[in-house]
Amino acid sequence: MSTETASVVIVGGGLEGSAAAWALGQRGITDVVVCERDTVGGGMTGKSSGIVRCHYGVGSLAAMAATGLEVFEKAEEIFGSDIGFRQTGYVVGVGEPNVENMRKSLAAQRAVGVQTEEIDAADVAGMWPTADLEPFAAFGWEERGGYGDAYQTAQAFAASARAAGIRIRQGTSVTGLLVDADRVTGVRLADGTTISADTVVVATGVWSRPFLAPHGVDVPIEVHREQIVMIHPGADLGDVPVFSDLVSLQYVRPDVRGEILFGNSDLAALDIADPDDYRNRADADFIDLTVDKVGTRFPGFADPAITTSYAGCYDVTPDWNPIISRGPLEGLVIAAGFSGHGFKISPAVGRLIADLVVDGRSSDPRIPESDFRFSRFAEDDLLTTRFPYVGAGEMR
Ligand SMILES: Cc1cc2nc3c(=O)[nH]c(=O)nc-3n(C[C@H](O)[C@H](O)[C@H](O)COP(=O)(O)OP(=O)(O)OC[C@H]3O[C@@H](n4cnc5c(N)ncnc54)[C@H](O)[C@@H]3O)c2cc1C
Repeated sequence: MSTETASVVIVGGGLEGSAAAWALGQRGITDVVVCERDTVGGGMTGKSSGIVRCHYGVGSLAAMAATGLEVFEKAEEIFGSDIGFRQTGYVVGVGEPNVENMRKSLAAQRAVGVQTEEIDAADVAGMWPTADLEPFAAFGWEERGGYGDAYQTAQAFAASARAAGIRIRQGTSVTGLLVDADRVTGVRLADGTTISADTVVVATGVWSRPFLAPHGVDVPIEVHREQIVMIHPGADLGDVPVFSDLVSLQYVRPDVRGEILFGNSDLAALDIADPDDYRNRADADFIDLTVDKVGTRFPGFADPAITTSYAGCYDVTPDWNPIISRGPLEGLVIAAGFSGHGFKISPAVGRLIADLVVDGRSSDPRIPESDFRFSRFAEDDLLTTRFPYVGAGEMR
């Protein structure tokens, strides 16, 4: 059987694997093969809500989101195409118990370069006149936030990498790593051929745990099903910003044809799923929850109607933050466990992966690679927010 060689093999051509290829290409590393068993962005990336905000109480994540935003804003210049980024603004509303931590978080975000401020209920009412804002005690605002299209973004990363000379192999399933003693030396493909490589990046999202387990690497990633419901409000809402409601734990954002995308941000009840066999539409009780949450928060919708629903899966780690790390085998980089918030940070993820491949460390002092190390779980030194919100600590 034939053997190919490459400097770097990336397993998985989702958003993160494609971002890694793009960033390696930007650094002039082009002896790279991306092996995607299906098509670029055809995994969970295609299900992303694509919300873009820098509102994180983990400094490195806020900085990564700020980096991502800069890339999205300059997408036309960088990629030569519209990647679907819509800069509607982002508003987050909290109740009384979370006001102090929200203010501290906003200040910490500004310290790493995020443009964010507190606004009052009248400002929000001007943007979202159909909302009931009574239960909120404070609001954060990011004028530069909004939402993007993760699928289009993955395509743009891959196209840019391909233009740099990187091989994007779709329909190419990797069956396992080639390992010599404790060193990864390449990958084996489903057709029996191999690709030898100095470094293998595993960016297989929700499929990462079973992929790495045969090699004695247990990535603590659970797969959770997440349901999304699309609603037509019955009248034109105008240019509404993304709204993250941390009182009733929901998020909504505009979509095409005047629709609103609804997601539940109450992560207390988890729906453990098989990523190859899960129900790809909302359950009846989730529809009830949607009607209740949206109906309560947006009583001003003229004639709301559910138009469709679907579901995707999150690859969730114990601290709801990703693993972007060298090791535990030599020559291996893991980039998985994005826990439902890997879109906005993807350009920075790509750059961090490229840094780890080339230099072994991050080139951005705001984003220490140690934050995302694989060993933090075994060390019981989790990456958690400095400013947790009651009832909504994850992803923030
Ligand atoms: C419902 C939902 C809503 C979300 N909303 C947001 C949001 O609002 N904002 C935000 O920032 N993030 C959001 N996210 C998260 C973000 O979209 C994901 O973190 C990101 O898209 C995951 O990209 P990935 O490359 O890690 O995974 P994937 O896109 O799943 O890519 C992994 C790829 O690996 C391939 N693969 C697997 N095994 C193999 C193998 N053995 N050989 C070859 N290829 C293989 C798969 O085919 C797949 O294409 C959301 C996610 C979901 C599911």
